[in-house]
Amino acid sequence: MVAIDEPKCTGCDLCIHHCPFEALLPLSECPPGRKKRPVVVLNENCVGCLSCIGSCPTDALYEIVVPPNAEITPLVISRSSDPAVTSILRWGKGGKGWA
Ligand code: SF4
Ligand code: SF4
Repeated sequence: MVAIDEPKCTGCDLCIHHCPFEALLPLSECPPGRKKRPVVVLNENCVGCLSCIGSCPTDALYEIVVPPNAEITPLVISRSSDPAVTSILRWGKGGKGWA
């Protein structure tokens, strides 16, 4: 699984097109004190493929090791529900596409 060190996230969006499962999306609202809304990991969508690891210029993305007998992601345990996010155009004209 992957998590984001949110204070390190500048909202550059570079990681978004590295995720084939659309598990990385920006918050729908910019938190107070931030210049740009950060990206979050959607617990329901992340399959832990690690395609996104290494795409972040500020090293905000990091791996969470899941125990072999885990029945639920630690991200779900640490957050009751996914926050409101903005959808991103991935395909078609002007879309972010796939890295
Ligand atoms: S680990 Fe895979 S599914 Fe999870 S956010 Fe990264 S690219 Fe997406
Ligand atoms: S690449 Fe890193 S800094 Fe940029 S949006 Fe993704 S997590 Fe945030």
